[in-house]
Amino acid sequence: MVNIVLLILAYFFMEFVAWSNHKYVMHGFLWNWHIDHHRKDNLQGLPLNTEDKLLEKNDLFFLVYAIPAIILMIVGFSIQSMPMVFVSVGITLYGFTYFAIHDIIIHNRIKISFLQGKHNFFIEAVIKAHTAHHKPKNKQDFNNYGLLVFPLKFLKS
Ligand SMILES: [Zn+2]
Ligand SMILES: [Zn+2]
Repeated sequence: MVNIVLLILAYFFMEFVAWSNHKYVMHGFLWNWHIDHHRKDNLQGLPLNTEDKLLEKNDLFFLVYAIPAIILMIVGFSIQSMPMVFVSVGITLYGFTYFAIHDIIIHNRIKISFLQGKHNFFIEAVIKAHTAHHKPKNKQDFNNYGLLVFPLKFLKS
């Protein structure tokens, strides 16, 4: 039971990690890695490049998250620490969620039709909030850095 709670806490803690990392690191000193993901956003001073690439430099961030989760899982199993294993599973499940919603549902990087059909009101709101993140007026104008947590206004209408 404690382990399941740890898993859920780790999952939601990752939303906080993803939000803060996106806001302060990806749009901060590692903007160089993330800029690739905003190349279609019509940003002033950014060369507009609409070609579809299989991989973006931004995908490096997947490794940044996956490697600690994998290490945690390996160490957890080897010292037989179930709490550690459950935390690593929580992180991994968040990673799957992020990939499914952000990369498949929102950005259509892979075609998986059952994910890209009709969505419930929550996923609709997630899509709207992240789409707004991709409509900045300039480099200072970005908002909605989180994925699953967003301003309530996106739930309306
Ligand atoms: Zn961004
Ligand atoms: Zn995006």
